[in-house]
Amino acid sequence: MTKVLVIADIKQGVLKGSTTELLSKAKAMGAETAVVAIGSNMDSLIPDIVSAGSDTQYIADDPGLELFSAGPTASCIVDAAKQFGANQIWFGFSESGKAVAPRVAAQLEAACATDITDVKIDGDQVEIIRPAIANKVMQRVKINTEQLVAVVRAGAFEATEGITGTENVVKLTPPAADLRAVIKELVSDASGEIDLADADIVISVGRGAKDQAGVDLVKELVTDLKAGFGSSRAMVDGGFMAHNKQVGQTGKIVAPSLYIAIGISGAIQHLAGISGSNVILAINKDSEAPIFNVADYGIVGDLFEVIPILREEIKKIRN
Ligand SMILES: Cc1cc2nc3c(=O)[nH]c(=O)nc-3n(C[C@H](O)[C@H](O)[C@H](O)COP(=O)(O)OP(=O)(O)OC[C@H]3O[C@@H](n4cnc5c(N)ncnc54)[C@H](O)[C@@H]3O)c2cc1C
Repeated sequence: MTKVLVIADIKQGVLKGSTTELLSKAKAMGAETAVVAIGSNMDSLIPDIVSAGSDTQYIADDPGLELFSAGPTASCIVDAAKQFGANQIWFGFSESGKAVAPRVAAQLEAACATDITDVKIDGDQVEIIRPAIANKVMQRVKINTEQLVAVVRAGAFEATEGITGTENVVKLTPPAADLRAVIKELVSDASGEIDLADADIVISVGRGAKDQAGVDLVKELVTDLKAGFGSSRAMVDGGFMAHNKQVGQTGKIVAPSLYIAIGISGAIQHLAGISGSNVILAINKDSEAPIFNVADYGIVGDLFEVIPILREEIKKIRN
């Protein structure tokens, strides 16, 4: 039987939805599931980890693990993978996952695949699917090792309603501290804005907004809808938006329920970051803009006229 070990994605003490998505996929494949969760003061999280769909919970709980560090994190995962006898080790998409996955794969002498959108298991045959060349082609990669370490693309798998797990907690021995690299402090974005990776709605601004006044106008809609605020590269290069807001091939990959592209042409490098969105709405004054080829809904018009109307209509509906 396939055994899938999912790495719990925990942010500020909260288990993120991506963990349930990965466990749902594993259960749908008929696999036995386990989660490895790493951090400090983990006891209160265990019920959430169980109900996310895990059959076994490997918990590494130590004050020394409070701040993320790739070396000790990899050691805990390798320990859990060996105890569980995992053939599949899955990370949700995150910067820390991308940093740790190759270390885990190297220690287990396993194959490592990032940015995957699907896994197919047929007996001993394992194949992964992932986009390549800015989403222009899909690669099918056959895995020839006994174990696979995979980083799954945001939004690739859907959470199943009513998924359940079984409590079976195994405490891991905390690893020795990594003396080669000691993390002193994590400085998070103090803007208070919603993280693009967590946002249910993402609104991105493009060159059509022209300048700071245009960005501020789009931001009003972002605030109304409590959305994450993204950007095309043009607005980052223009100095109007921070680099960590860039969506696309060389920026962030987002998978919200609703993606609103405002004044964005739809270059292939931008589209590479939004294909996991459930619904795409584009606002652009050029009816021939390529963004309309991928949008589910489109508004052809000047964003400076459309946004105030949209805000007014949203206010009416809410009232
Ligand atoms: C290697 C590489 C990597 C890249 N990575 C990324 C990436 O990660 N993310 C990314 O976004 N780009 C990336 N790019 C850049 C990408 O090719 C495009 O140049 C960029 O996405 C264009 O941004 P834009 O759509 O905002 O601007 P434009 O292409 O200039 O489009 C502006 C759009 O706004 C519309 N518009 C103008 N005025 C208005 C108005 N008043 N109301 C409504 N609409 C209006 C126009 O009709 C036009 O469609 C990359 C490029 C390369 C070469």
